[in-house]
Amino acid sequence: MINQATEKRVVDAVPKQLYVDGGWADAQGGATFDVVDPATGHVLCAVADAAPEDGMRALRAASDAQSAFAAVPPRQRADMLMTAFRLLHERIDDLALLMTLEMGKPLAESRGEVAYAAEFFRHFAEEAVRINGGYQVAPTGGARFLVTKQPVGPCLLITPWNFPLAMGTRKIGPAIAAGCTSVIKPAAQTPLSMLALAGILGEAGVPDGVVNVVTTTRSGEVMEPQIRSGLARKLSFTGSTAVGRKLLEQCADKILRTSMELGGNAAFIVFADADLDAAVDGALAAKMRNSGEACTAANRFYVHEDVAEDFGSRMAERMRTFAVGRGTQDDVRVGPLINPAARDKVQSLVDDAVEQGAQVLTGGTALAGVGYFYPPTVLTGVPGSARMRREEIFGPVASISQFSTEAEVVAAANDTEYGLANYVYTNDLTRALRVAEALESGMVGLNQGVVSNPAAPFGGVKASGLGREGGPTGIDEFLETKYIGITLA
Ligand code: NAP
Repeated sequence: MINQATEKRVVDAVPKQLYVDGGWADAQGGATFDVVDPATGHVLCAVADAAPEDGMRALRAASDAQSAFAAVPPRQRADMLMTAFRLLHERIDDLALLMTLEMGKPLAESRGEVAYAAEFFRHFAEEAVRINGGYQVAPTGGARFLVTKQPVGPCLLITPWNFPLAMGTRKIGPAIAAGCTSVIKPAAQTPLSMLALAGILGEAGVPDGVVNVVTTTRSGEVMEPQIRSGLARKLSFTGSTAVGRKLLEQCADKILRTSMELGGNAAFIVFADADLDAAVDGALAAKMRNSGEACTAANRFYVHEDVAEDFGSRMAERMRTFAVGRGTQDDVRVGPLINPAARDKVQSLVDDAVEQGAQVLTGGTALAGVGYFYPPTVLTGVPGSARMRREEIFGPVASISQFSTEAEVVAAANDTEYGLANYVYTNDLTRALRVAEALESGMVGLNQGVVSNPAAPFGGVKASGLGREGGPTGIDEFLETKYIGITLA
């Protein structure tokens, strides 16, 4: 159990200003906004509320620092990332508490996220010194092709509130590894983790202007002028598909490189031959990680009719044991949702499904009192027409329906505009591979409920996004390929 003095110490330690050109600065006019603890509704502190001119100042700093940073030897860039990796681990307790306070997830999950976030720095430190090129004889002979890779240039990085640290390091890691400078704009709901990270990167020796952090409640007004300025060369965005669409339009103006990690609507398919114990464990991981507030969260469970009833009752039994409460308390497994609107949206999706015939096995009603809590909920018999089959639930609600045939379930799983992740449980190897190949998503968990791994290419198809983060190709998102043609006389 964490006491109030510890909470205060951790919040007080975070700088509350904008991080621009290696220093801390107030927003124009000294404007600030409040950061709220979603478990209590209380204000934790106030941080700088940037105006459009503050954003441009940060981008000019990134632009001015670009050419010198591109010339920093890869080994030195790798060393900066490794130092930051070590500092994140050294401070994991305080960083985890900070994350729990601003975002709500239980401390154990916050610790997991800090470690996951740090791993992107280690992964990209190892990639920084492996950026390769090529030398090739032209097919007609005579000429030679020399191929090299160069940093894209100054980047704009926009991150969501649900993974306040890891969504940042997944972009900052490859940007630094590739030699790119950046302006990062975290979500207004969770600015503290990113401000703490900015301080750590400074300590790790990242030069002034290479990483800049701008916190604001005016995200559109602050980012659009930067996107359209001509100073930035790339936008990497993680967030909703609706905002991603808007940003892609803005990027078209100056033809910015883009990476888009957008929304999901993952299907979790359980065939009759699956190991049901493993499937329930995987389902709980895929559904309850981050209390369901994850782009990869299992949004639609499809369970074969022979095992659907058993699966539903086992899920409900396990979900009932998940303690709900403030993430700082021992044994809490489900924290609050991020704000009242998120809680109300989950309730309206549940009400809609129930009105259309779904049965509630457990949960189903938002918890009264302070904080934005929603209980673990299991619904069965959810019809395809329910809104929760098309929209991200983003809450601890397992929405289950039955299927009969493989063809039917593959068609249902693909009947969505999204294509981020899907999950398949079966012990039939041939079917597993056939279904994994047929599913329209960037990632498939085969007999596993968590697909996120810094060393694997993370990303979606269709309306779930463009590009891949992490993995062996994550750094390429921040590199341009240049070909130099040589005539050998
Ligand atoms: P969001 O509303 O799209 O916001 C994401 C980020 O964009 C925040 O920093 C937000 O700032 C900013 N933003 C909003 N409007 C903007 C605008 N007009 N111009 C520039 N920036 C703008 O999404 P969210 O609610 O924070 O996050 C949840 C969504 O993210 C879900 O759809 C989830 O699936 C998706 N997600 C995807 C991945 C992935 O890897 N594919 C990972 C995590 C989350 P403010 O909030 O401060 O306005």
